[in-house]
Amino acid sequence: LAAGEYGPEQAGRVIAHFGRTLDVRPEQGGDAVRCHLRANLEGLVTGDRVIWRAAHDANDGVVVARGERDNVLERPDARGQLKPVAANIDQILIIFAVEPAPHANLIDRYLVAAEATGIAPVLVLNKIDLLPQHGGELRDLLARYERLGYPVVTTTTEREGGLSALHARLAGRTSVFVGQSGVGKSSLIDRLLPDEELRIGALSKDTRKGTHTTTTARLYVLPSPAPGAASEASEGELIDSPGIREFGLGHLDEQQVTEGFVEFRDVLGHCRFRDCRHRHEPGCALLAAVERGDIHPERFASYRRILESLGEA
Ligand code: GDP
Ligand code: ZN
Repeated sequence: LAAGEYGPEQAGRVIAHFGRTLDVRPEQGGDAVRCHLRANLEGLVTGDRVIWRAAHDANDGVVVARGERDNVLERPDARGQLKPVAANIDQILIIFAVEPAPHANLIDRYLVAAEATGIAPVLVLNKIDLLPQHGGELRDLLARYERLGYPVVTTTTEREGGLSALHARLAGRTSVFVGQSGVGKSSLIDRLLPDEELRIGALSKDTRKGTHTTTTARLYVLPSPAPGAASEASEGELIDSPGIREFGLGHLDEQQVTEGFVEFRDVLGHCRFRDCRHRHEPGCALLAAVERGDIHPERFASYRRILESLGEA
């Protein structure tokens, strides 16, 4: 097609992609438009900000440029190569549940992986309807993470209003859900996106005919909770795919693990030896902080355990 057959450049955001075909939501509002990718472009993912042009007299368009990314979430492909799967995410919601009971080490593993992406993690404890009256241990665990500065939200899909704290957290932000199987991710997302139409995406009818199910990520606009609900904030966005839900269990290197423990950061520069590996070295500031009680011994044990799992301990 000649350049003249396209309208002016506009801003948009990728809400789904199928190979070189993308669904783009115009920034100025309105239905998403199915676009193809100009030949010199590749590697776009859901969540990318793009410049696109609408085709005249047609229900499609062309993406001509990709905007800067704030951040990108990567997953290993079948050959173990890291591939971007979604971009421009405000927060990673790490879902865990009263049952199956969470291990602190697993939560730490997710937090470290999230810290490595530069995307803010949020802890979500689901199934609080199953929390025993004296669920003291779990509450202590949550308090520990709150003291580290991580937001903690509790949810249940079993009670009216059980998602109100979550709604407030999602409002006005782009989120992804990650976590072990069985913690309730599908149940939560079903509640957040009850409308089938929303899940298919805000495509015009003509465009939607060609839609096939995809395992790649899709961006959903979450409906605002009912008027009068605890939060009045604007709608949030969710980027979801089976691959994204499994995020957090891939490879990390030793430096990412060390820096992923946020409370270590102030201490790390103060070891006597610049190349201190925080095992038994004299003058190790990290060991001293554990000794003093400034760093929780379980967090330090988690750190050791994660390094061991990398074969680097
Ligand atoms: P996923 O594997 O993380 O997607 O988890 P699912 O959404 O499939 O949920 C696993 C199981 O937990 C299902 O049997 C759900 O009905 C149940 N479940 C989900 N949320 C809750 C909750 O808040 N309370 C209780 N008691 N069960 C829940
Ligand atoms: Zn040290």
